[in-house]
Amino acid sequence: MGAKNQLNLDFGDKFNILPDKEKWEIISHYLISQDPGSSRDLWLSQLRPVSLGTDKFIFTVSASFTKEWIEKHYLDLLEKTAERFTGHPVKVEINVVPTNNLRERKRIKKKRKPAFGLSLNENYTFDNFVVGQSNRLAYAAAKDVAEKPGRKNYNPLFIHGGVGLGKTHLLQAVGNALLANSEMEVVYVPAEYFTFDYVEALKSGQMSLFRSRYRNIDVWLVDDIQFIADKERTTEEFFHTFNALYETGKQIIICSDRPPEDLDTLHRRIVSRLKNGPIMGISPPDLELRLAILQKKAEQEKANIPPEILLYIAREIKSNIRDLEGALAKLIAWSSINDAQLTLPLAEELLVDYIARKPKAITIDEVINTVCKYFNITQRTLKGKRKDRKVSLPRQICMYLCRELTSASVTDIARALGKTHPAVISNYNKIKEEMARDQELTKLIQKITSMLLPSSSE
Ligand code: ADP
Ligand code: MG
Repeated sequence: MGAKNQLNLDFGDKFNILPDKEKWEIISHYLISQDPGSSRDLWLSQLRPVSLGTDKFIFTVSASFTKEWIEKHYLDLLEKTAERFTGHPVKVEINVVPTNNLRERKRIKKKRKPAFGLSLNENYTFDNFVVGQSNRLAYAAAKDVAEKPGRKNYNPLFIHGGVGLGKTHLLQAVGNALLANSEMEVVYVPAEYFTFDYVEALKSGQMSLFRSRYRNIDVWLVDDIQFIADKERTTEEFFHTFNALYETGKQIIICSDRPPEDLDTLHRRIVSRLKNGPIMGISPPDLELRLAILQKKAEQEKANIPPEILLYIAREIKSNIRDLEGALAKLIAWSSINDAQLTLPLAEELLVDYIARKPKAITIDEVINTVCKYFNITQRTLKGKRKDRKVSLPRQICMYLCRELTSASVTDIARALGKTHPAVISNYNKIKEEMARDQELTKLIQKITSMLLPSSSE
């Protein structure tokens, strides 16, 4: 079908001769790019590849919770995707190698790790972060906090920005710096993790243990706050934890894909607290920064990619640094297993899945407008709560078309329509399935699509 699905074909049988690290780089970038804006990146980044054979992939993670979570939500997907790349059925095995505890730490003087929560990526350091116009302020604030955590006007630090722009990298850079240079107890607990940790504690009647663990933190790194559960009790508990730490001068850093005022599921009281500290936005990188990042990564990998190809990638991939990395990783892997010299036309061909994605010109608003006009309903109705088919069908079609025709993330679409991330995905899938059965629906959608696409191509 789409160009994206042919990714593995570019490598053919040769995929299996790649080093494990490159295999995983390619597969994980591919998986994340399939659902940007979800928490997939966060969980997959917890997997450490140990051995990626043709029919068995072995990973380690640092906690049994992480193992269970990944097995529950991603095992199937991992196995199916691995099969597409290796060409063989693949079994995925995840083993737990626990974080060293405090006493052990002192004994063997190993690198410090967070006491609980998710583990940090060691490569996410300040040194590895390339600074440009779009991320300078966020970088400076994070650096300040890493040097002097807990200062009043730097607490909480709030960093927001679109998908793949370096929020998690900066957040973890603070964590890595403090684990290396201080004795502070640093934990990386994304909002989704907090939610489940809390629910588990409730279920097993271990609330006091839960609370004492969180009250002992010195620096709390909270990633993807937009994924905090939309439940009164969870946000309440979050608020209490936040307050307890805040009031004792402990540092909190929060990342989000949107500014505080758009966090509608979060307690108003938390939102107003966020405004006590600096609020830093990261915007999409300019060409200069994109190129600098590519150059740095190519250098780190000791890859010899011709400069005109780096420039080509930097010009074409504009809004997401992770995609820049994914594209580069693919070219590096390709050149490591093929003797041929990488040329620009070849690179263009290899990167169709990153670059020729979707006609980018169409916006969510245009889709909404056109769908409303076609069905003769108002935008308010479309974005409202009515569930009868007269409204629900246009709404579902709207979600479907937004995903197919615009370059917006699921999160953006959900926000524009006032719906949740899972709702957009499930409605999208529903329409896709119905279209396979229902000719009339397919025709209808083609008609609306033709209203959206420019009449003459280029
Ligand atoms: P976000 O959390 O904003 O979605 P991430 O922090 O996960 O984005 O960044 C996506 C990828 O891009 C990561 O691999 C990260 O290392 C890389 N990255 C982002 N910004 C930079 C930068 N300024 N310099 C180097 N790498 C970057
Ligand atoms: Mg992130």
